[in-house]
Amino acid sequence: MTHPEPSLSASGYRPQPLLVQEDSCYGVERVRERGFSFAPQVHREERVKVPMRDVVCPVCGKSSQIPAAALSAQCVHCRAHFETTPYVLRSGTRHRILRTLGNVVIPEDAELSHLDITCSDLVISGKVSGRFCAARRLELRGRARVTGELSADSLSVPSGASVTVTPSVMSQNVELRGELRGRLIAKRQVHVYSSGRLLGDCRAEKLLLDPGAVHEGFLLK
Ligand SMILES: [Zn+2]
Repeated sequence: MTHPEPSLSASGYRPQPLLVQEDSCYGVERVRERGFSFAPQVHREERVKVPMRDVVCPVCGKSSQIPAAALSAQCVHCRAHFETTPYVLRSGTRHRILRTLGNVVIPEDAELSHLDITCSDLVISGKVSGRFCAARRLELRGRARVTGELSADSLSVPSGASVTVTPSVMSQNVELRGELRGRLIAKRQVHVYSSGRLLGDCRAEKLLLDPGAVHEGFLLK
């Protein structure tokens, strides 16, 4: 008794498995042989040393390493996304909102408002307003005038500088060798060197005044 030939469906598809003969080129043994003979030679993985650099996340404050050539990066701790480009912001710049792991410089002749800057090191010599957050160092130079929110890990005012912050600046540690007008809030230490002048109220865990240093204002609790 023979089975009737299964009828072809409308599309011509014959619903039967394809049986491969042992001696065909798809035979198990041959595939195995060919598999071995054609297998690419496996080299031990060569590790290429990518130059890395340390960065501090301006959002969570934790440090990590990124490839030195990376144009952008994501913080492994808080997933915040940043570019890595450094910027010099001059009057008329279109970069008013920045989140970068690079450094930002605002030169003396720059006058800019409505800025929102998050970066690594920040140097301000010009007249600016907005929100500024430096994950590492903030330096206020020359005759800098800053209005708005200003925070950094460390703040320095070099000697010869006479800078104004309105209403206040917040930092972990502060080194004043020049003059700072405005309220200063430091989580750790404020050091006013002999050439330094702090004209405004100050809150700090520790306030060091060198001989000749000036502080006019209240020491806030
Ligand atoms: Zn982070």
